[in-house]
Amino acid sequence: MRWWGWGEDGSAVPLPPAAETLLRDRLEADPAARKPHVPLDQVSLPDSALPAPARERLAAIVTAEHVRDDRETRIGHAVGRSYPDLVRIRSGDASSAPDAVVLPASADQVNAVLAACAEHRVAVVPFGGGSSVVGGVEPVREGMAGVVSLDLARLAGTVEVDRTSLTARLDAGLFGPEAERRLREQGVTLGHFPQSFEHSTVGGWVATRSAGQASTGYGRIDDLVEAVRCVTPAGELRSRAVPATAAGPDLRELVVGSEGVLGVICEATLRVRPAPAARRYEGWSFANFAEGCDALRVIEQEGASADVNRLSDEAETGLSMAMGASGSTAEKLGRRYLRFRGHEGGCLAILGFEGTEEDVEDRRRRTGALLRAGGGVGLGHRPGEAWLRSRYAGPYLRDELLDRGILVETLETATSWTKLGDLHHAVGEALRSALAGRGTPPLVMCHVSHLYPSGASLYFTFLARQEEDALAQWRAAKEAASETIAAAGATITHHHAIGRDHRRWMQAEVGELGIEVLRAAKERLDPAGIMNPGKLLP
Ligand SMILES: Cc1cc2nc3c(=O)[nH]c(=O)nc-3n(C[C@H](O)[C@H](O)[C@H](O)COP(=O)(O)OP(=O)(O)OC[C@H]3O[C@@H](n4cnc5c(N)ncnc54)[C@H](O)[C@@H]3O)c2cc1C
Repeated sequence: MRWWGWGEDGSAVPLPPAAETLLRDRLEADPAARKPHVPLDQVSLPDSALPAPARERLAAIVTAEHVRDDRETRIGHAVGRSYPDLVRIRSGDASSAPDAVVLPASADQVNAVLAACAEHRVAVVPFGGGSSVVGGVEPVREGMAGVVSLDLARLAGTVEVDRTSLTARLDAGLFGPEAERRLREQGVTLGHFPQSFEHSTVGGWVATRSAGQASTGYGRIDDLVEAVRCVTPAGELRSRAVPATAAGPDLRELVVGSEGVLGVICEATLRVRPAPAARRYEGWSFANFAEGCDALRVIEQEGASADVNRLSDEAETGLSMAMGASGSTAEKLGRRYLRFRGHEGGCLAILGFEGTEEDVEDRRRRTGALLRAGGGVGLGHRPGEAWLRSRYAGPYLRDELLDRGILVETLETATSWTKLGDLHHAVGEALRSALAGRGTPPLVMCHVSHLYPSGASLYFTFLARQEEDALAQWRAAKEAASETIAAAGATITHHHAIGRDHRRWMQAEVGELGIEVLRAAKERLDPAGIMNPGKLLP
């Protein structure tokens, strides 16, 4: 991945011209103005502080070639991919870079690396794709003699499918496209497609309890984990690959979502499904967000939700028509719908069904009837297919927006159906007021991204003209939204995890005793405190 943004060189997605107009009209931004990232040779990088004996030990374990401390590799592991991460790295600040990047090739090597690091008091940051948006991969020294990123890219050989049991044992360092390609070769799919799919890994998904775009249908990654193998400084935690067990509290759950603070997930056995023969994605329109939410609640509670269910609020619907790669199609359909309904506003929903031809058609019919009864109007397959084509485009557009000096950030939460409408309003207001007093009114929008019988997740995106102190501007917005979420009793994160940025709100999630229990587990598994300091636990 590019050290300053998303994707690889040459993979940019240009902003559609309509989006440039919108930036000018709504954010008073000059679309021609550019705030480019500094060149690589001007990035400020501290000297590596890795003690020589530690470096030698590590090289003896993984070979010298796989202990890297060249400039580009260290800078590429200095931060994750949140907005503040990108602001800092684009401005040339790589002060958080690890002293070296270590690339083990096996669980045994991971074990030996952890032993060497514990002995030499070197902190270890497990690194999958580095797509964390909560500061999860940013190296923190916390009184250690050094800090290394443990990049798991070489742990990517195994994809072992049990076609009868529908499970697959996967190495942690496999990236999304490669994992899915190899599963498809054997006729199965994991069905896990986070927007970061192209640049995130199996181990990263499990370590952060990730949710994919189709997780309402296929299940979140935490629903798909049958077993994990986690190498900790105190030894290996390994769960049995069994469909269910009554053998006490499930220690799998200690590893899932542990964000690298307990150990290194080296492999996971995950539940897979037959690869779908048919896919049908379609658009629906609702008069307003409340009507759409209610219709989604009904389909979910009736057991009739689609695999992908996304409902944009009025602001996101309007903006995605102008900004999306599929803008023109969506816009035409949206206008047709608005004329049909005879009012302004309206919300676009995307529903996606995957499975056998017969299953998809049966489910569509049943879901469609419920959506129509809830006020929905079908827009046909074109908006759905347009969404499917551009489902991974967002992060590339973010680079384009940063180039133009635009703050663009996302955050997510989940709550019960009862509280969903109020939370949507409160977080939106918190973001608008935190950003409004600071210049041109921001654009704040939201969509429902995942459905559960008892509630749903809300995913907010906000844009504003960047201020002089871009990080202070971001902090004000993030704090306002997070405080509002915590005060409403909603979760501080539905799928991005805790990392560094949400630590302050972790106690509200699990309580004081809960934190102590997690600390006790960490002290037992990681007595020297080398595993990903400064993350997850306050
Ligand atoms: C543009 C964009 C879109 C995103 N969309 C989604 C989305 O749709 N759904 C979603 O859930 N998230 C999303 N994310 C967040 C991020 O992609 C997920 O958290 C993802 O699961 C991280 O995977 P990774 O391999 O990149 O992990 P990393 O970013 O490398 O690591 C994340 C955390 O897990 C730890 N870790 C990584 N690998 C291991 C391992 N093998 N063992 C132990 N600890 C490990 C790290 O130390 C760190 O704390 C998005 C991020 C971006 C930038």
